[in-house]
Amino acid sequence: MLRMIDTSMAKLIDGRAIAEKVYVELRREIAELKTRGVTPGLAVLLVGDDPASRAYVRSKDKTCRELGLHSVKVELPASTTQSELLSRVDEFNRDSNIHGILVQSPPPEHIDETAIVRALDPRKDVDGFHPENVAKLVIEDPTGFVPCTPLGVQRLLLESQIEISGANVVVLGRSMIVGKPVALLLMQKNKGGNATVTVVHSRSRDLSHVTRSADIIIAAIGRAQFVKADHVREGAVVIDVGINRVEDPASKRGYRLVGDVAFDEVIKKASAITPVPGGVGPMTIAMLMANTVKAARQFH
Ligand code: NAP
Repeated sequence: MLRMIDTSMAKLIDGRAIAEKVYVELRREIAELKTRGVTPGLAVLLVGDDPASRAYVRSKDKTCRELGLHSVKVELPASTTQSELLSRVDEFNRDSNIHGILVQSPPPEHIDETAIVRALDPRKDVDGFHPENVAKLVIEDPTGFVPCTPLGVQRLLLESQIEISGANVVVLGRSMIVGKPVALLLMQKNKGGNATVTVVHSRSRDLSHVTRSADIIIAAIGRAQFVKADHVREGAVVIDVGINRVEDPASKRGYRLVGDVAFDEVIKKASAITPVPGGVGPMTIAMLMANTVKAARQFH
């Protein structure tokens, strides 16, 4: 899954190719579940009309259909109240054809997202944000759901034969969606874990000193091209989670997407690196599908 660009440069970790490999495995598992009369089902709730959220929801729905999963997409107006949304969640909690539920983030400001997440049946919380699933990640209970992006990052490393066990991993960012769960996942005492993990954030002192000690850097801070060659030691592996819009008059849309890593300079020092787009992004959706299939398997 590693594509050589040229001999002086890092290997590019191809997230699209690795996601395809995940889909091949999932298709097999879905076919097996169908022979038992089970079609894994995912319900995605979107409140409001944020264009980026709409695009994510569309692509989740499309991937579900391509895999032969049961997909329900509910688009609600921005005026939807907390109690209306809670009653939609409750409907899906009780619907036996639905095994996974997610509420696309971010909802409009008047919605209390924490309360919505807590209202989900944790057995259907395929985003892995419910406190019960967070606890299961901490206590290493494999029946829990791990957030999709961290799972995707781990899978990219494993598929690229990058040694995680014993490696110094520096995670930039401590969000509940990426930074914290990826740190917990990679320090678990199991295959795919056993790393020595350091997490840095906006209050960290001498950040580049810390990142230069890393064998593996995972950048998830939401700052365009923040990680420069100076942050990276020769031969490190760099996983770029960031998705940031930067103005680009040359592009039809007027912007282009870049990661949290200054790709053009870091690729010259890294031994392997993910591109943006085409790195972590495709893996996030693949892991959502994997979590939905896992939820269905655990129900039946
Ligand atoms: P977030 O909730 O905004 O968290 C950002 C984290 O980065 C915070 O912990 C913050 O520190 C830290 N940070 C911000 N500026 C920093 C700086 N200058 N130096 C050091 N640390 C800094 O972001 P997120 O949801 O984790 O997302 C991070 C990025 O990943 C975004 O670009 C997002 O679009 C992208 N993302 C991509 C995927 C995917 O599928 N590829 C999925 C999810 C997110 P404090 O805690 O101190 O504020």
